[in-house]
Amino acid sequence: MPDKETTLFITGKVISPGLAEGRIFIHRDMLRHLDTPVAIETESVEQELDHLEDATAMITEDLLVLATRVEKEMDSRLAAVFETHQLILNDPALKEELRTEIRGNLVSASSAVKAVFLRWEKRFLMMESRMARQKGDDMRDISDRLSNALAGIKIHPLEQIPPGSVLVANRLLPSETIFLSQNSTAAVLLEYGGSGSHAALFAREMGMPCIVNIPMILKKVPANAWVLVDANLGEVIVHPQEEHKAGFQKKVSAMQETFVAAQERAKKQAVTLDGVTIAVFANVGCYADTARAMTNGADGIGLYRTEQAYMGRMTPPDVDELLDEMRRTLEPAKGKPVYVRLLDIGADKPLPFIGFLAETNPALGRRGIRLLREYPHLLETQLQAMLKLSQEFDVRILIPMASLPEDIVKVKECLTRLGEEMGISPLPKLGAMIETPAAALSALAMEPHVDFLSFGTNDLTQYSFAADRENAAVEQYFKDSADVIFRLLRITHDDVPDMPLSVCGELAGRAAHIPKLLQCGIRSLSVAPPLIPIIKETIRESLYNVTNSC
Ligand code: PEP
Ligand code: MG
Repeated sequence: MPDKETTLFITGKVISPGLAEGRIFIHRDMLRHLDTPVAIETESVEQELDHLEDATAMITEDLLVLATRVEKEMDSRLAAVFETHQLILNDPALKEELRTEIRGNLVSASSAVKAVFLRWEKRFLMMESRMARQKGDDMRDISDRLSNALAGIKIHPLEQIPPGSVLVANRLLPSETIFLSQNSTAAVLLEYGGSGSHAALFAREMGMPCIVNIPMILKKVPANAWVLVDANLGEVIVHPQEEHKAGFQKKVSAMQETFVAAQERAKKQAVTLDGVTIAVFANVGCYADTARAMTNGADGIGLYRTEQAYMGRMTPPDVDELLDEMRRTLEPAKGKPVYVRLLDIGADKPLPFIGFLAETNPALGRRGIRLLREYPHLLETQLQAMLKLSQEFDVRILIPMASLPEDIVKVKECLTRLGEEMGISPLPKLGAMIETPAAALSALAMEPHVDFLSFGTNDLTQYSFAADRENAAVEQYFKDSADVIFRLLRITHDDVPDMPLSVCGELAGRAAHIPKLLQCGIRSLSVAPPLIPIIKETIRESLYNVTNSC
């Protein structure tokens, strides 16, 4: 640990921009501090098994309550996480392994939990797939909960985080994000965290500055030290001197001025210097996102990720359930265009009612429209709900992972048939997400079947560079602002110059790249709700200038 008052400069990778300062709150990972197993006598085995059973029952109940609360108050994606945790916790194989650990090795229930979960977590973390690694995080999450319950600890350490703290942790588990709010947490600094992780998603949606990939951060920074966090540049100053504080204050004032100006103008259209109006939409998943987006001046919803309506359910929602969920989520955006995406689920994000699709390469397997073509009932239910929704909202339908023109033709045929059966006309506009190089280079063939195209640059980057978007080990290959990506955008524009083109991946929310996106012929952007004012402001200072090559 460094000397208490030595000024320290640390750098890392930005996953959510902004400026913040505050006192460090260290959140340690319980499993990393693996105590020596606590040995027990044979006669205590039954008592430990009971102890484990009671703790499991208690947490199961807690998780269900939590899932319901989070679903109502926050985000159904997070609620789904708790429902999944409850299922894992009660998995018969896991329960048996815990009991065998207690009986066979004569260790306490707490020691068994630590040993067994660590084994499972390692197994998952060593696997390549995104689902397996997320499961690793989930295992860690559940084991922390179980260890706390066994130790009689009812309060999660993050529930006690003092307001305005800068949270420092090894990594952030999915469930832990619910304890963070803009009041309690000024910024987040992590040793690990991919740009596609839950922590990243949450931080961006909350507008909370977050820097990751800071090796050994827990060893480097002392608890309670004052820190300045520049998550625009990825720089942290621990124990800053007066001159650092003064410099930082200037940056904060400048940013606040820009932000206030941007906020005031956010409700107005964003028009480029050469007079082209660019729509700035929001990416949403729940009601709170949509509400925040509209307050921040969104011109509509550019990407509604509907997966949440399906996660953590044992049966798929029917048309009316889906319609209710969509209505609830989109309510604040009534009257504005809403781009609703068909289910983008796949082998790496299994649904309980579909079962596990064993694929060696899930990211290249059946996801998005590929899966829906195999499960036409799911597709029909979604389209029926969207058709009904289009009676109340200005709905446009987005097809995820379309890589062949026939992916679109199939959806269009189904939509047309259902529209006739339901007596609904005109049909909502239909467009495809461009998320693979093949799709980008097929725009001409797709043109007759679509009304618009939207680039999902997160996946487009993953598939262009063959670099898993959630695998920190190949982060240096995941370059969503590389020329390669802009070239794909520009080629698409040149192939179909009259087609409305949009970008809804993370790239759209990074101000520095807006001029280049506009030069590629992009006419609308869809970003996390907190970024709308600043992106609109950046557009106002940029040229559309699509005649120049980008
Ligand atoms: C994308 O791939 O860029 C995108 C917007 O979709 P998602 O992040 O939901 O895969
Ligand atoms: Mg995608």
